[in-house]
Amino acid sequence: MRIILLGPPGAGKGTQAEFIKKEFGIPHISSGDILRANVKEGTDLGKEAKGYMEAGELVPDSLIFGMIEERFGMADCQKGFLLDGFPRNESQAVTLDEMLTKMGTKIDLVVLLEVEPELLIARAVGRRVCQNCGAGYHIENMPSKVEGICDKCENELFHRPDDTEETVKNRIEVYQKNTKPLIDFYKNQKKIRAVDSSKPLPEVAAMISKILNDLH
Ligand code: ADP
Ligand code: AMP
Repeated sequence: MRIILLGPPGAGKGTQAEFIKKEFGIPHISSGDILRANVKEGTDLGKEAKGYMEAGELVPDSLIFGMIEERFGMADCQKGFLLDGFPRNESQAVTLDEMLTKMGTKIDLVVLLEVEPELLIARAVGRRVCQNCGAGYHIENMPSKVEGICDKCENELFHRPDDTEETVKNRIEVYQKNTKPLIDFYKNQKKIRAVDSSKPLPEVAAMISKILNDLH
């Protein structure tokens, strides 16, 4: 099963991906997570990507393509994957189709997470992520038991530097301009299903689960 989760920043892609990954046994490929790991490790890719990420701008396609191709080459992608944060513009969507054609496969479905715009900023600004295991929280919607500490591994939670109100607003604009056109791109391929991600987490997870189970 090869799935794309599409939606604006803060829509719930990463959160839902964790549910889907467990239920369907496919890896969660988050381009943002891979980039953040590179920034943390100080790789050449991380050094080049850092400034774009902090400003809420897209990292150039030339850096993204190699990174994704390398990830697709890993053994766990054989049985499928769940893409989160990639593709993010039309050129990436076209290149993704080309990469998959070469691999003799294709995208099965795009799940679009729709959220009322006024909820997005609060969701992204309130997001907290574990430094160690990557678990996601929200200061109001999904708080950790002890403030600032991960429930799962007891390491410190961090506030992403691009989750400030100003940068989130820019990321939403970047989404509207570059990523939203992909809705029509995948409508033309008859591959898109929309889910109301303004609803509580378990409801959204149940809707996605039903859509993916119907795919089999
Ligand atoms: P994305 O990966 O799309 O940028 P996340 O999955 O990280 O978004 O979600 C952003 C924030 O919103 C997180 O702090 C998460 O806990 C919270 N969140 C996600 N889905 C919901 C939901 N359905 N209801 C309430 N809060 C949510
Ligand atoms: P995300 O974790 O998906 O919110 O992404 C965080 C940041 O990483 C974005 O604001 C971009 O700067 C960068 N990024 C992630 N994925 C991509 C992509 N597919 N293309 C370009 N930039 C990306």
